[in-house]
Amino acid sequence: MQYAFTPQAVAAVPVAGRNELFPVHRIYCVGRNYVEHAKEMGHSGREAPFFFMKPADAVLPVQEGQLGEMPYPSLTSDLHHEIELVVAIGKGGKNIPAADAPGHIWGYAVGLDMTRRDLQAEAKKLGRPWCTAKGFDHSAPIGPIHPVSKTGLINAGGIYLNVNGSPRQKSNVDKLIWNIAETIEHLSKYYELQPGDLIFSGTPEGVAAVKKGDVLEGGIDALGTLRVKLV
Ligand code: MN
Repeated sequence: MQYAFTPQAVAAVPVAGRNELFPVHRIYCVGRNYVEHAKEMGHSGREAPFFFMKPADAVLPVQEGQLGEMPYPSLTSDLHHEIELVVAIGKGGKNIPAADAPGHIWGYAVGLDMTRRDLQAEAKKLGRPWCTAKGFDHSAPIGPIHPVSKTGLINAGGIYLNVNGSPRQKSNVDKLIWNIAETIEHLSKYYELQPGDLIFSGTPEGVAAVKKGDVLEGGIDALGTLRVKLV
């Protein structure tokens, strides 16, 4: 049997230092995974982890040293940045114990979980899904994926985001409430993870609005810098 029409190309993210692409299967995101961010969103910072998703083709890959361009999305006037450590899964599985989680990690990247905060606030109030607030086109700018064979396991390291050169977010990955291994343990109870899955692990405090023309520059120690302009 043939496809009725040519399928869309597989979404993919460049691998740092190699002439390879990491094919994206799914994008999972963790909500409120830093205490100070949970507090700024009106919560205690002690809740169990919860998850939402973006479509795989929401990725907006940006090469190191390049300035990516993200179209300012429709139907929002409160687009927020969330700088995050992204974990790339290379080996699938379900019910993965935290102790085994490192063996499932293929690599890491710097990512932005861009959020229509006004639509998210309305969805929360009305008990509706977050899809239009979180899972829109180009909502996941991401730098190259660095293989874990080069970086080693990342459990600490500075994470920051500047907008037009001014600091907005600054923290350390060691402040994650649920660390990467624990996150994989929880997530793999809900879904069978597959090679190609990306996990946006949550954002530290300091989220705020950006506007057309702003330049976002975010980074994580050992993973370089992600630069994106809103156009
Ligand atoms: Mn987020």
